[in-house]
Amino acid sequence: MELVILGPQGAGKGTQSVRLIEKYAIPDIATGDIFRAAMKDSENDLGAKVREYVDSGRLVPDELVIEIVLARLRQDDTQDGFLLDGYPRSRGQAEALDKFLSERGTPLDGAIVIEVPEEVSMRRILGRRVCAQCGWTYSVAIPPKSNWTCDRCGGEVVGRFDDLEEATVRERLKNYTEQTLPLKKYYEERQVLVQIDGTKTPDEVFSEIVTAL
Ligand code: AMP
Repeated sequence: MELVILGPQGAGKGTQSVRLIEKYAIPDIATGDIFRAAMKDSENDLGAKVREYVDSGRLVPDELVIEIVLARLRQDDTQDGFLLDGYPRSRGQAEALDKFLSERGTPLDGAIVIEVPEEVSMRRILGRRVCAQCGWTYSVAIPPKSNWTCDRCGGEVVGRFDDLEEATVRERLKNYTEQTLPLKKYYEERQVLVQIDGTKTPDEVFSEIVTAL
């Protein structure tokens, strides 16, 4: 199963990704996570290159993102499928992925687009908390059962540093509308679009995605 999942920040991409990779036994490739991990390591060149973009909520230039993603897709564990979370975010990125997959003979099976209104995104992002270890998503409204410790793996549940500034969040939503949303039409034309209402519960959203796929 070759999948991409798109949606504004706060749509529930991370929440659904954890479920989808378990169901289809495919690796999760989240560009935002790759960048945040690189930024934590002060010796890492990639971290230094992407910091100014991630910190301000702007998109990292296509050339750099494409290079990182295609290098990841050349690794053995992606040969039977993958879920790309947060990529593509521009037409250039989508075209580079298509070219790579068609050369490999494994075209995309589904482009899942989760839709939520901007104010729902804002509210969810500012209240979002994530397990630093397994990536399971919580929120201020639905915290883990005990003291910000993950119910699933015992990891520490924390805020994401790029989620905490309202101006940054607005900038990311604007980028999504301007640069990523047009990809809906791109994938519709290629007959792989799976459009989902993200305001429903995580279980309902998951079951709709699986049925559509
Ligand atoms: P995310 O965790 O997916 O919300 O990504 C966090 C930040 O990483 C974004 O605000 C961008 O600065 C950067 N980023 C992640 N994925 C991409 C991408 N596909 N293209 C450009 N920038 C990206």
